[in-house]
Amino acid sequence: MSLKFYNTMSRQLEEFRTLEEGHVRMYTCGPTVYNYAHIGNFRAYIFEDLLRRYLKYKGFQLTQVMNLTDVDDKTIRGANEKKVLLSQYTKTYIDAFFDDLSTLNIERAEYYPAATDHIPDMIKLIHRLFEKGVAYQSEDGSVYFSIAKYNHYGRLAHLDLSGLRAGARVVQDEYDKENLADFALWKAWDEKDGDVYWDSPWGRGRPGWHIECSAMSMRYLGESFDIHTGGVDNIFPHHEDEIAQSEAATGKPFAHTWLHCAHLVVDGKKMSKSLGNFYTLRDVLARGFSGREIRYELMATHYRQALNFTFGALDAARAALSRLDEFYRRVQGAATAEVPETDLPAWAKAQREKFGQALDEDLNISEALASVFDLVTAGNRALNEKAVPAGEAWAVLALLEEWDQVLGFIRPPDETADAETVTMMDLRQQARKNKNWAEADRLRDELAARGWVVQDTPQGPKLKRK
Ligand code: AMP
Ligand code: ZN
Repeated sequence: MSLKFYNTMSRQLEEFRTLEEGHVRMYTCGPTVYNYAHIGNFRAYIFEDLLRRYLKYKGFQLTQVMNLTDVDDKTIRGANEKKVLLSQYTKTYIDAFFDDLSTLNIERAEYYPAATDHIPDMIKLIHRLFEKGVAYQSEDGSVYFSIAKYNHYGRLAHLDLSGLRAGARVVQDEYDKENLADFALWKAWDEKDGDVYWDSPWGRGRPGWHIECSAMSMRYLGESFDIHTGGVDNIFPHHEDEIAQSEAATGKPFAHTWLHCAHLVVDGKKMSKSLGNFYTLRDVLARGFSGREIRYELMATHYRQALNFTFGALDAARAALSRLDEFYRRVQGAATAEVPETDLPAWAKAQREKFGQALDEDLNISEALASVFDLVTAGNRALNEKAVPAGEAWAVLALLEEWDQVLGFIRPPDETADAETVTMMDLRQQARKNKNWAEADRLRDELAARGWVVQDTPQGPKLKRK
């Protein structure tokens, strides 16, 4: 079976090939750690997680790098406002990011390089760009990339360079196509940077955002690698500038396949911190939804289609997952012990094949999920007719486990509450006895945020999954 991806570079569906047989090298632009990541960001990370898991399912060895942007305009501004060291400031959000990855069951990449640990690589790369004649230092002390000196500028974002004003420069990391200009590789220190600076051959300063990704990707993946991903907002200027810097320095093609996910939107607008229309993962968890339900919603729309975020869709995710859970348990019930696994029954074999065919077509998740739920329907019918011998039930369970490796939400969550949750329930009972209603309510909300409700039964209160 061949695997196809829509390559942003060619704007076409292409047969996927790796540079090295059986090994995928992939770079995914990571979080700027100046705040908690919002669920729009997680849409991108969930898409990349599906990509990663499916490549592994197809038998590829994988080397994935996700950078942490821990120095840029936004992180410096945040640290200054809080009057703390940059590293102290970013640590909070780096830790939160990894917690969030666990909540969403996102597999870890092989490398998470932080920009501040790779400044010498960036300086070396800028040095190479001077040698190639495409970098220059301006009167303000900053170093810029001359886009007029690089013939292929604009290929990824399909830019029209005819109106380009020679010598125009942009120092900010983020700008739009109307402000197309030479962009900063190295930013000269100014008061706003406080104690954030490194010494370089061009004076004190700090790297631009784009050079960070060029230097870190090439450090871990080599000068040419297979896949580069991000959200569509990364196409310009970030990825366009990464390509220019990398290819101008090495003379080799940078990344071969460019994959970009469409935005998660709210009322038709991109969810973003600057628009203020965002929910962090924590906000959504606090409303009583689980990481698994959020994962489902973020994954269930094809990555190149805009995803309209609603709480209603999370309710639908909950219903879909409970249908899956019920089926899983029924199959478990039919898989009685000590019977060897046999072949998959025909109704399951057909869906297994369809699932793979769907994801082979540029990760067609809607079709893949259709096979999952068609399996549930067919399986329930067979179970109702008592037509699933234990050996087949074991085989179906194995298929569900196999799909769980790709989707990460098939297996039902553990029904046993952890010790901390049980203690919370006890404290709530205590508070109710003492008529401390405010405290009892607070604990009820906290339990809800963890995905649990307390049910009164003849045997006393019991925890139930929401
Ligand atoms: P940032 O932390 O802003 O650099 O973004 C991290 C990743 O999230 C990048 O790949 C962005 O393209 C992606 N991203 C940001 N906002 C959204 C959104 N609303 N929907 C999907 N992806 C997004
Ligand atoms: Zn990047």
